[in-house]
Order: sequence, then C-alpha cells, then structure tokens
Amino acid sequence: MDVKRIREDFPILKREIKGNKLVYLDNAATTQKPSQVINAIKDYYENYNSNIHRGIHKMSEEATIAYEEAHKKVSKFIGSKFEETIFTKGTTESLNLLASILKNKIKRGDEIVLTQMEHHSNIVPWQQLAKEKGAKIKYIEVNSDGTLKTEQFSQIITSKTKIVSAVHMSNVLGTINQIKELGKIAHENKSLFIIDAAQSIPHMTVDVKKINCDFLAFSAHKMLGPTGIGGLYGKKELLEELPPFQTGGDMIRQVTFKEAVWNDLPWKYEAGTPNIAGGIGFGAAIDYLKKIGLENIQEHEEKLIRKTFKTLERINGVEIYGPRINRGAVFSFNIKGIHSHDLASLLDDYGIAVRAGHHCAMPLMQTMNIHSSVRASFYLYNTEEEVEKLAEGLKKASKIFA
Ligand code: PMP
Repeated sequence: MDVKRIREDFPILKREIKGNKLVYLDNAATTQKPSQVINAIKDYYENYNSNIHRGIHKMSEEATIAYEEAHKKVSKFIGSKFEETIFTKGTTESLNLLASILKNKIKRGDEIVLTQMEHHSNIVPWQQLAKEKGAKIKYIEVNSDGTLKTEQFSQIITSKTKIVSAVHMSNVLGTINQIKELGKIAHENKSLFIIDAAQSIPHMTVDVKKINCDFLAFSAHKMLGPTGIGGLYGKKELLEELPPFQTGGDMIRQVTFKEAVWNDLPWKYEAGTPNIAGGIGFGAAIDYLKKIGLENIQEHEEKLIRKTFKTLERINGVEIYGPRINRGAVFSFNIKGIHSHDLASLLDDYGIAVRAGHHCAMPLMQTMNIHSSVRASFYLYNTEEEVEKLAEGLKKASKIFA
C-alpha cells in the first residue's frame, strides 16, 4: 500500500497547524475525506441536485439512481441483501431506532445485556427502554487488560435475556471483541443480537452473514464518508415484521384518510427526504476503501500498532490501556502526573490532533479507575513517522510538566 500516494487524495492533510504539518490522530472521532468523496458530493449539488423517488424529471431520476447505487454498495460491503441495509444519520440514530422499534418485544422482568466497554450511544437508549418497560440491564465485565470476561457470556445471558448489544471494537481500548461467540450464546438463549460496528467496519471486513448478527450499526464519517449518514443492517424477516421508526413521506406505499401501507424495505425505514448528498458520498467512500482494500489497510495498521507500542512504551510514566493483540489502532493512554487535557493541548501546539476525555464511555472509565485519557487513533493515511512525532511531542510535554 502506497501511503504517500494515498495521502495525496486527502487535501486536508496538507494543512498546517500553528506552523507545523498536521498530524491527524483523531480518526476514531471522525476520519478525513478523500477528494473522491468530496467531489462526488460536489458533483451531486452542482449537476443533479434533486429529490429522489418522486420526480419524473431527468435530474430526479439521476439522483434516485445514485442514491440507490450507494445503498447497493454499502449493503454489499457488509455482505447483506439490498433490502437489509437502511441509511440512518449514523450509529447513534441506528441504535436509537432499534431501541424504539424493539420496544414492544420487551416486558417487565426481561433483561438486556451490554458490555462495560460500550459507547454511551449503546447504553443510554437501552437504559431509557429498560426504564420505560421495567426491564433490567446487565453488563459483561472487562478484564484489567481491556478484554471482555468471555466466561461471563454464558453466565449473564439466560432465557430472560431479550437483547444482547455489544461493541465490535472499543473506541477507547481498541479491543476487538469475540462477537461470534457472544452472538452464538445470545441466539441459543433466543435473544436478539446487535453489534455496534462504528469502529470496526472502517478497518476490517465485517460480514453480517458470517457473524450472524440480527442488527448492526455503523457511521459513514468514521470510514472516509461524510457526517450525518450511516447505516443499520437488519435481518430481512425482522425488518419486515417490526414497526416503522418514523412515519411520513417515502416510507409508505399507499395512504388513505384512515390508514397507510408501508413501503418495501429498506425504504420503510427511511421516512422523509433523506441525506441524498451524504448517501452518495458514502457510496464514494466505499468505492475508495474497496479500491485500497481493507486487507491492505489492516496490514498497514498492524505496522502502526507495533510501532506505537514500541515507541510510546519507551516514554517515562506512560500507561497504555487495552490489549496488545486482537486490537485496532486506537490507543488510549495517560502519562503519570499530567492531565490528559494538558497533554492534548500541548500536542496541538505541535500540530498533533488527538482526543482527550472520557471518549463517550464514562462507565468504562469508572471501571478503569480513571477520569480521562488521551486517545491517538490511526487510519490508512497515517505513517510511522507520525507515530514518532507523537512520541516526540509526548516527551517534550513530559519535560514541561515534570
Ligand atoms: N459507537 C462507537 C464505538 C463509537 O466510537 C461511536 C463514535 N465515537 C459511536 C458509537 C457513535 O457514532 P456516531 O457519533 O457517528 O453516531
């Protein structure tokens, strides 16, 4: 994989921050966009901006084809059928949508199983649902090395469990969870199995049929696509049986003064004018990722993972959280005696963009006994030289605060 060549596709990487070349290490929050994605959106607005599915005119037909093509690309990318992949605003909306449409499947005394390493978006919607229905939430615990206590899968999941929802790859620890095993136990107990794939899909092949999940949520902006668009996969028979999320235009086939008949999948779950430009941009991001090849991206990131461990571990007082193997290129760490916000702010002075805080995983932070951490997260355009720059920045910061 020619990273130098890839970097040329990302205009923003030429930016300077405070006189330094930008080192963008905040990819777990959002990724940068290649010209191919930016141009696809620009092309839509400049040349065929129209609403979809309604017009007979030429531009509306072009927009409809482009938006539907994007659906085809995204659904194929995750190994689903066309009808099974809905476009949403992103992972958060996908999970909220599920908590809404699954409401009637939950009754008093039922249990929802999550893990301790969930992002707030895979906790709060279930807490709301549990409160409303009198259900109980149980959490699979995290070991000190940042892996899940897999022995708890079969202890916590029982016939009372109606939903198991878990993150594929942690946005804090980088842990890649054993979701196939988790799903197997969920299904043996007749529970639905949901995956938050926000951090995994951008970096590794995710095949919904091989994983055998019932639903899977993801965001385009973490995989080179635009913000405000993402996906929800759902098994066809479930999406057919479940009620719609929102109602109104586009999600109906027929409406009378008395009632309505829902549209075919996936449109049943896409009420109103969707994010057409975003969808088209998402399709372009998929094209780009496929052209580079996820296996090449993964191989490149493995190199960055090895380099990061080797380089950061040499710095005095650094503690890196999360496992050494079966992990993605997301590194959360602290330097003893220095607040994560101070570290991130100093790194910014050197043009290095990282994140500091609780990373929308406050309960996980509590189990780790920390308030916050610095997070450096890598993607296909990052280099080993940038890992060194991060380490140099951290060394300088340690001296300043010593
Ligand atoms: N889950 C995980 C694991 C995430 O990392 C994120 C984003 N940080 C989300 C869910 C929420 O994604 P979005 O903000 O795109 O809805």
